[in-house]
Formats: sequence, C-alpha cells, structure tokens
Amino acid sequence: MKTALLKGPREVVLEEVPVPEISADEVLVEVKYCGICGSDIHSIPECNLYQAGAYLGHEFSGVITKVGMNVKGWKMGDRVVANPMYICGECYGCQHGRWCDYGADAAIGVTPGLEYAGAFAKYVRVPLPERRLYRLPDEVSFEEGALVEALACSLHAVRISAFRPREQTMVLGAGMIGLGVIAHLKNAGAGLIIVTETIEKRAEMARRLGADHVFNPQKVTNLKEKVLELTGGKGVDVVFDCSGVPEAFRSATDFLRKGGQILLKGIIPKEVPIFPMDFTFNEWQIQGSLCYYADEFPMIIEFLKRRVSPVREMITSKIKLSDIIKKGFDILGKPGSSEIKILVEPDE
Ligand SMILES: [Zn+2]
Ligand SMILES: [Zn+2]
Repeated sequence: MKTALLKGPREVVLEEVPVPEISADEVLVEVKYCGICGSDIHSIPECNLYQAGAYLGHEFSGVITKVGMNVKGWKMGDRVVANPMYICGECYGCQHGRWCDYGADAAIGVTPGLEYAGAFAKYVRVPLPERRLYRLPDEVSFEEGALVEALACSLHAVRISAFRPREQTMVLGAGMIGLGVIAHLKNAGAGLIIVTETIEKRAEMARRLGADHVFNPQKVTNLKEKVLELTGGKGVDVVFDCSGVPEAFRSATDFLRKGGQILLKGIIPKEVPIFPMDFTFNEWQIQGSLCYYADEFPMIIEFLKRRVSPVREMITSKIKLSDIIKKGFDILGKPGSSEIKILVEPDE
C-alpha cells in the first residue's frame, strides 16, 4: 500500500510499504478518511513536533478489519476514530486525566518509524485500542469522524481557558483550529465572538459558525478601537490566538481587558518580545494549550451527533491518497489558500 512519508522539512513523498501486521494487543483499521492537519503542513524542524521519517496522518476514521487475540471490547466491522497520542496510563498526566507524559513518543502518524505509521494509507495499526479507540455512532459519518481529532484540539483550548458563558471573546485566525474554537464558544454561550482572518472563505465560515464580527487585520487599521467599541470600552475577556503568526500574538493584549487571558493555541516557533510590566499592571495571563485530553474525544463525538453546529462544512475538499501531494500538501502549503479541511481517501 501507499503511504505519505515526511522525508525532510516540508518534503512529503508517497512511499510503498507493506500492510501493517498486528500483535495480539492491537487492531487494524481500514482507513475511510484522514484529514490533513495544520501540523502536517508545518512539519518544520523548529517545532520539534515532527521529524523526518514520520509516516503522516493522525486525523482518521475507519472500520476495524482485524482484532488481536487479547483485545477486548472491539470487533471486526466496528466504525471507529482514534486518539493518535500514546496513553501509558501510569504517568502523572495519565493519572490526573491530562496529557500522557509520553504522548508524543509513540503517536500514530507523528513519531518517526513505520511502527507508528499514520493513516494516509489504506490501513493503520492501532496499538492500545482499549485506550485509544472511540466508537462512531451511525448518526456521525466517516467524513465527520475525521474531524474529531482537530475539533478536540479546539474544544480543549476552550475548556482550559478562563472563558465562562456570556463572556466576550476574540479569536485570532480562523483556520481549522480557530473555527473549531468559534464553534465551541458559540455552543458554550459566548456573549461576543470577534474574529480576525485575512482569507474571505474562512471569514465566511467563521460567520456561519457563530462569529459576531469578522475583521481582516490587513485591511482594518483601527482594530483596537473597534474592539473597545464593541466591548463597552473594556476589551474582551479572553483572546484565543489560533493564528500561528507572531504579529497576531503580539497584538493580543491590545484587545484584552484588565485581568483577561490570552489562550495561546497557535504554534509560533519564534521569540516574540513582550513587556512584562504590562502583564503585572494589567494582571493579564497567558495560558498555553496543546492537543486534547482523552476524554474530549467522546465529547466531540456527542457534539457531532447532536448537530448543534455546521462544523461539517469545514470540509472544503475530499481528495484521493494518490493526489495528496499535488491537491493536498502543495495547495495548503501556499499562503492564502482558502481550503479549510482537506480529507484524504485511500485509493491504492
Ligand atoms: Zn491534527
Ligand atoms: Zn501516561
């Protein structure tokens, strides 16, 4: 079968590999769809997230086709999505319902080596199925299933932020993660959602998902005044930075009320100067957010099942695996792409 290999910084190739063998403790999943993630695209050395030799694809849905002898609770034909991160079950993080300390050390579609090969392929091997797999109910399509991981990232950002219902918020950057944050803020009863986004198609989607105001920061010069006007002169309670852009992160405090929080979700592998005294005098906080906790997967499946938000419309293209370079990575790698989520369907 063919699979997508990260050969070097921003260099992905399709490589022929054998169908994975499973052990008695693992299952084999036939992939239906796998989303291309922002992190797949920005797999650059500074991030230290992906290294050469990683077989990509971690946002997948599919059907179980083989079940190891010792696996309990799963059978052939089950429709599933998987948490790609490793979950040891014993470290401090696992014991406290948080991130496994070893989460990225053996992550499907992230960690280098065929052993951890991802789901830009017809089949993907899933070790630790008892901790990693979630059942997809009939009401949730395989396409929607492939959104679960990315939507869980956004939900996590909202959950660990200081945001409370009815509060006023701002989201910088309406890519997949920012859009997911908007959907969850809307669902959680935000009083105001102001969004910045430069690409019109994404701005449009932001409005569909519940943004009250969307501004193009390249066109609006007095954004700070506008935000102050919309918030009765005080600034928003929480700014979610989902931009990955240093200038956007730097601007976050312009829009923040005293005592407000910046939730930093975007990956900015660069130093950005801040003036610490401003944080003291304004009692501002910065909270980072990475991935998700395991319990956020079932929350997203329920969210999709209840159809409270048109998040499915974030799927802007479905392409075949054989076209993943040309119609996937090349397109998303160009600045200004209006694609939001591209789903890849195995075809060989
Ligand atoms: Zn992802
Ligand atoms: Zn652990």
